Amino acid sequence: MSYYTKCIDCRAEFTQEECLKANCCPACKSVGIPLVQADDIQIKINWHELRVLTMWAEFWAQHQSSNNPESIGMKQTVKSIATAMEEQYPSRVPLTMAGELGEAKDRYPDMEVVGPIQPESRKKIH
Ligand SMILES: [Zn+2]
Repeated sequence: MSYYTKCIDCRAEFTQEECLKANCCPACKSVGIPLVQADDIQIKINWHELRVLTMWAEFWAQHQSSNNPESIGMKQTVKSIATAMEEQYPSRVPLTMAGELGEAKDRYPDMEVVGPIQPESRKKIH
């Protein structure tokens, strides 16, 4: 499906007309810069490289949101981007530590996770 922009946090899609009238995402109220379809690209990267980048971003977003409540949206942005990439390769291991811990928790339900990153099951955002 063709779109003009989509929200970086919830992936809701909008036409150019809808985007020009809005000052935030009408669906989730995110003020993050929307994703313009004209900027969609394909790159070649190793899955492990992508995991490293995603986990570092995840930890940074977690650290920032722990120290500054105004940065809470960073975690959602990283999760949204990671989920969009994971959905392109659903047979691959998760890109985030939360996703990896979620798979471990699914396998070992009694395990306890101590630390700022908590297990999350894979689920679609949109
Ligand atoms: Zn949104």
